[in-house]
Amino acid sequence: MELSRKVMQIQPSATLKISAQAKQMIADGVDVINLGIGEPDFQTPENIKQAAIESINNGKSSFYTPATGLPALKKAISQRIEVDHGYHFDPSQIVVTDGAKMALFTLFQVILNPEDEVLLPVPYWVSYSEQVKLASGVPVEVGTDRQLRFTVADLEAQRTPKTKALVLNSPQNPSGLVFSRAELTAIVNWAVQHDILIVADEIYEKLLYNGNHFTSVLELGDDNMSHVVLINGVSKAYSMTGWRIGYAAGPKEIMAEMGVVLGHAASNPAAVSQYAAIEAFSGDQSSVETMRQGFEQRLNELYPLIANLPGFKLPGGKPAGAFYLFPDVTETLRLTGYADAPAFVTAVLNEAHVGLVPGEAFGLPGHIRISYATDMVSLRKAYQRLQQFIEHKM
Ligand code: PLP
Repeated sequence: MELSRKVMQIQPSATLKISAQAKQMIADGVDVINLGIGEPDFQTPENIKQAAIESINNGKSSFYTPATGLPALKKAISQRIEVDHGYHFDPSQIVVTDGAKMALFTLFQVILNPEDEVLLPVPYWVSYSEQVKLASGVPVEVGTDRQLRFTVADLEAQRTPKTKALVLNSPQNPSGLVFSRAELTAIVNWAVQHDILIVADEIYEKLLYNGNHFTSVLELGDDNMSHVVLINGVSKAYSMTGWRIGYAAGPKEIMAEMGVVLGHAASNPAAVSQYAAIEAFSGDQSSVETMRQGFEQRLNELYPLIANLPGFKLPGGKPAGAFYLFPDVTETLRLTGYADAPAFVTAVLNEAHVGLVPGEAFGLPGHIRISYATDMVSLRKAYQRLQQFIEHKM
């Protein structure tokens, strides 16, 4: 049988693929350290777990909820955003989904007509391009300089009459880059001027290090908000990847249509997870800071080690946020004789038993992504393995 031509052009998620491969090796008894997946290793905070348990015990989580989420959760999200960024979303402007990934997927289904273009500054998170294609849209890469930053001129170079949206991910996966207020202002002004929707993926907003500051698109003035859809969720800030709660917040007409699509596609995100998320957004926030400090220590110890590996270059310097390093390894590939990053990453997994992701998955060959959302002992061990592997191959 011929399967969907649209689906056949979609690549499997490279991060999930390498992680599955690493997990299979672990199941087979191999001592693999997987730095390939973007998942905090911390337990979900106790107060959040307790809220979920309570919702099970009092029977509240046994039933469907409204398709776009419990009113109490939308209120908690609205209040969290208002406290954090001083912008008020009416709960009718918020749609709760099965993770931020589903919020993005549904959004692209709602805003794109065939051939509509979505600008993706390189490097970009692996799922944006495939989700755009699944919505019959066209992902358009926007070039960046060697510091992995881009400007309005880069965006303008790719703008066409079909440009519908721009994905802005800050702090960024995979580079950890955070836009300055000035950069963000210029980009947002440009997008609004050309009637381009800004998809602001701020899922790493709580993970900022070494005094670096994050500016949300929401802080740049209410006039822009007719052109902004905010994407966020609980996965990274509250260490809740397994619970699958994310959200989109933005113009009412777009959110209403997302509700229609979700009503047919998902009915609602798991009720128990929604009760947990209410506590995440409105309960004690101190665990967010504790986990942030944990990531910061890891970054500060790992960064100089990785930066000194033979041939590794981190031209953007120490990342300001998220929990990834994204070194340029072109020189390492030359020194070790590997044709490209996927060949290098495959050899590292099979021979050194360390899971990494090739830059191809983020639209930027010659790079690898290293996640440091793993304990320091494992990170040190992974570094040693990587160092030995490279020196052995040189
Ligand atoms: N956006 C970015 C940039 C991410 O890195 C991720 C997860 O890796 C997501 C969105 C999706 O997160 P989730 O679906 O777990 O909420």
